[in-house]
Amino acid sequence: MSRTCDACAEATLAPFADLGDIPVLCGVHWADPEAAEASPVGRMVLAYCPSCAYVRNVAFDPAVMVYDTTMDTNLHHSPAFQAFSADLVKHLADRYPLSGKRVLDVGCGQGEFLRELCHTAGCAGVGYDAMYAGPEGPDASGAEFHSGYAPRGAGLPEFDMVTSRHWFEHIDDPYEFLVDLRQRAGTRPVYGYLEVPDACYDLSTAGWEVIYPHVSYFDAYSLVRIVQRAGWRVEDTGTLFGGMFRFIEMSANVDGDRKGTEPVPGPADRARQLAAVATFRERHEAERAAWRQRIGELVERGARPVLWGAGSRGVQFLTFADADQRLAAVVDVNPRKWGRYLPVTAHRVDPPETLSTLKPQAVIITNPSYRNEIAADLKRLGVEAELLTA
Ligand SMILES: [Zn+2]
Repeated sequence: MSRTCDACAEATLAPFADLGDIPVLCGVHWADPEAAEASPVGRMVLAYCPSCAYVRNVAFDPAVMVYDTTMDTNLHHSPAFQAFSADLVKHLADRYPLSGKRVLDVGCGQGEFLRELCHTAGCAGVGYDAMYAGPEGPDASGAEFHSGYAPRGAGLPEFDMVTSRHWFEHIDDPYEFLVDLRQRAGTRPVYGYLEVPDACYDLSTAGWEVIYPHVSYFDAYSLVRIVQRAGWRVEDTGTLFGGMFRFIEMSANVDGDRKGTEPVPGPADRARQLAAVATFRERHEAERAAWRQRIGELVERGARPVLWGAGSRGVQFLTFADADQRLAAVVDVNPRKWGRYLPVTAHRVDPPETLSTLKPQAVIITNPSYRNEIAADLKRLGVEAELLTA
């Protein structure tokens, strides 16, 4: 598992936390509990770069991580994420000269973001995603969609901006991916926007977002390093969505001042990430134990604790804290998940409306960004429960 750092290529990655076997398909839900229980697991061994603080699962096996249209890692079911995404579209359309140009969206999900960007910025778009389940080809928005992985090299259409949201951290060869896009830009002015989970957030907290599909964990410094090493100029970088996401805007063949106003991340940012790495294993193990105990206590006093949110964070939380299914229910706002079973732990997912009759006294969430949204939903459902953030 010895591997040279993907981001800076200056050091060998050093393992710091072995999380054992975890669900591979954490965005997939099954029709029956037996199939869910039998779903594949993969090993997670986190390693970091002493030189740039990049973190990667060095046990990742691309052969077991195959994406298809039955998967749903879509965040667009949440109003909080939709509002955030709409702001981002407006920001990109204001900042970059996209009118009449073509945007390539790698990992476009179900196309919501690219359609909105085409509509707002007056550009054309091409989106690729192996999980895209809609109609293929052009649609009325000016965007066209392909169900499948984006091609590399000459297979890619010419583009003036490349966007990739919550996909870059999934790929086995992030450096080659950026080099390929840079080569495709040639001598034309091209912009780019990448959005990933912020590793400094993920590794400073319990680690529910450390999931098998996430191969890489980029903080401010390592993301800048890999982008620059691949031949791009950094225009701007920072965090979004309550600090959980990190973005980087980049360009090729563009002169003039950098777009961002903040300094490009340096050694102080790297030190912050290295500190998070140094304490991660101990914190993660303590959180797992504490939540197992807390759920046990809630069950014992008849509080019927439930988990709200059956996304990847929820699945990872259940794997670590409720493999023995002591929670009274797991609910999610996504109708595609209702009545289906989550990987490995085989919890069934129910609609939030079921809480009206279950009347839990404790509702656990794993994503603080959705706290207000969920609190409002609970009120609407007439559920008076303590809201606990894991
Ligand atoms: Zn490195």
